[in-house]
Amino acid sequence: MRQGLPADLIERILGAAPKYTMEQLEKKFPPRNLKEGACVTRFAPSPTGFMHLGGLYGALIDCKLARQTGGVFMLRIEDTDTKREVESAVDVIVSSMHRFGLAYDNDETYGPYHQSQRRDIYHSVAADLMARGMAYPCFLTADDMEKIRENQKAAGFATGIYGEFARDRDLTADEIAARLDAGVCPSVRLYSEGNPERRIFCKDVVRGSIGFPENNEDIVLIKSNDKLPTYHFAHLVDDHFMRTTHVVRGEEWLPSFPLHTALFRMMGWAAPMYIHTSTIDKIDAETGKQRKLSKRKDPEANVEYFLRDGWPVEAVLEYLGNIAASGYEEAKTKGTVKSIWDYEMRPKKIPMSGALFDMKKLEWWAKEFIATMPVSDLAARITEWATEYGDKNHKKQIANSEYLAAVLGIERDNPKRIRKDFITWRQTLDTVGFFWDELFVPNMEFEYNRDVLREFLRVYDPADDKDAWWAKMVAIAENLGIKNGDAAMTLRVALAGRTNTPDLYSIIKVMGPVRVRARIGEILK
Ligand code: GLU
Repeated sequence: MRQGLPADLIERILGAAPKYTMEQLEKKFPPRNLKEGACVTRFAPSPTGFMHLGGLYGALIDCKLARQTGGVFMLRIEDTDTKREVESAVDVIVSSMHRFGLAYDNDETYGPYHQSQRRDIYHSVAADLMARGMAYPCFLTADDMEKIRENQKAAGFATGIYGEFARDRDLTADEIAARLDAGVCPSVRLYSEGNPERRIFCKDVVRGSIGFPENNEDIVLIKSNDKLPTYHFAHLVDDHFMRTTHVVRGEEWLPSFPLHTALFRMMGWAAPMYIHTSTIDKIDAETGKQRKLSKRKDPEANVEYFLRDGWPVEAVLEYLGNIAASGYEEAKTKGTVKSIWDYEMRPKKIPMSGALFDMKKLEWWAKEFIATMPVSDLAARITEWATEYGDKNHKKQIANSEYLAAVLGIERDNPKRIRKDFITWRQTLDTVGFFWDELFVPNMEFEYNRDVLREFLRVYDPADDKDAWWAKMVAIAENLGIKNGDAAMTLRVALAGRTNTPDLYSIIKVMGPVRVRARIGEILK
């Protein structure tokens, strides 16, 4: 290790004296007082204005691990990349978390939770590192670095600021002072002691111990332009002082894993457990091959899609939960657990690759979920959805809540035989659209048996119970010498406009005499 820098120089490099000593930080963010085995997790998105389905998957795992162990789940906003930030992007994240029911618990003690507001903390740690000779100011400009890069490429070397290419690694205090005097704004870099000829072993909960060449890059800790930390440094500092026990993050972070492990060791801090999750994939419709969900190509990559289209958020979570904990589906089918929140997720079993999200499979989860809903909840959720996202027809359908509930209640009274054709709130309203006159399209192609319709109108009594009604239908068929089913079909199509419907008697009951007579009258005209 080289010699550390004096305090006055550090103050000039960072623009201010560090606010905290390391002891003060340790005290300010004390180890959490939780029972053994409690997981402290965090969802740490960058606010880009877009919540990816893969982000929701990670957040669900975070939330689940914390809940099932009596731990803590935090939301940390990684807003240190000011170039990328989109206004109101934080709202997108917060509202998605809220809508999907992933409640987080950002205890004031460990905050603030926006990285942009934690500058004092990062600077204090960076100051400590510089004082101990483990970090240094670097005055390389973007142009300098570009030149270094080109030369490295031409010579066939790995690119980056390391070893002999780390020009400012060993500047003396006087040389540093001179550059500061000249007004050059430095970044702060790690003084790496790694040697890629050696291997470092990094522990992932799912993948086990992974060997990597040691990191020898003097990576940036604090950026020169805005003096904010890089992801690597913020990860180290925040996950230590927030007392995170489990870092659940995408597998794209695996290449930085040796760096992060080295940083924790260098600080003498216990590293958290790491769970690197697989990307969320789909089968490409054109190639038939499995590939990552693409923000650009796949509307379902954006969680907003599921809200807009009216998927029950629970079904999306159940399905994602089943991807992370594959035994869940069986437990649910057997009826041993009711929801993903009752099923124990085992961190070791979270898949490390090939997490496939198939919209057809999601339909199954959605149908199952809706089938368990009491009709009042179903009507309430549909109304909520249509109010926010529905078109003018959907809005018409929710206008009379009693009628809506009656329509939705068909074939829901026998728990063993609940209809399973409802998938999303939108599709449900569209499926039952024929109950509303404004949406009903009479079927003019069908060859109606007009005698059946005429006869039915003559004997129809809205007060008939199912048996009485059916006895009349049978009598009509008998008199006309046709099959019972054919008689019923004529009536069905006259009322619903199609051949495939739920229970016909229920339809007649719910529609009521005015509608029933009008629709039949229309056909007979
Ligand atoms: N902001 C990082 C990302 O969005 C967070 C990774 C992590 O969870 O540590 O990928």
